[in-house]
Amino acid sequence: MKDNDCIFCKLANGDIPTATLYEDEDFRVILDANPASKGHALIIPKEHYADLYELDDSVAGKAMILAKKMIAKLTDILGCDGYNIVQNNGECAGQTVFHYHLHMIPRYKGDDVGLGWKLNELTEEDREYILSKL
Ligand code: AMP
Ligand code: ZN
Repeated sequence: MKDNDCIFCKLANGDIPTATLYEDEDFRVILDANPASKGHALIIPKEHYADLYELDDSVAGKAMILAKKMIAKLTDILGCDGYNIVQNNGECAGQTVFHYHLHMIPRYKGDDVGLGWKLNELTEEDREYILSKL
């Protein structure tokens, strides 16, 4: 299903021209308009899913297989030293476009890409609560 008000539906389906690195029947891979580093790209499904909670299982599997293929090829082309695959769910997690997408962010030694988090101690209370609920 497509959402007429969704910019990524339009980009993925070719209704708005964009810098396309790859396309097949399920996905379009494009360069991010505001790259965190040179070569930052997005894997966007052609069908509309707001986020990972909604994503179809087979599309989820195909997206990660495509990410694997794309970063192998792009690492050669860009000469980067590593990759972050990032996927944000929910505004508090940094999601700004509510159509599922995978970020592929090339990393270069010494770059200033600001991904990371503060390391906390796992508390006994949190551990016991989470393990008891699963
Ligand atoms: P997120 O914050 O995870 O939802 O990521 C949205 C990403 O989409 C950001 O990195 C934006 O720079 C990127 N973006 C938004 N609009 C466009 C567009 N028209 N073309 C390419 N990238 C876009
Ligand atoms: Zn959409």
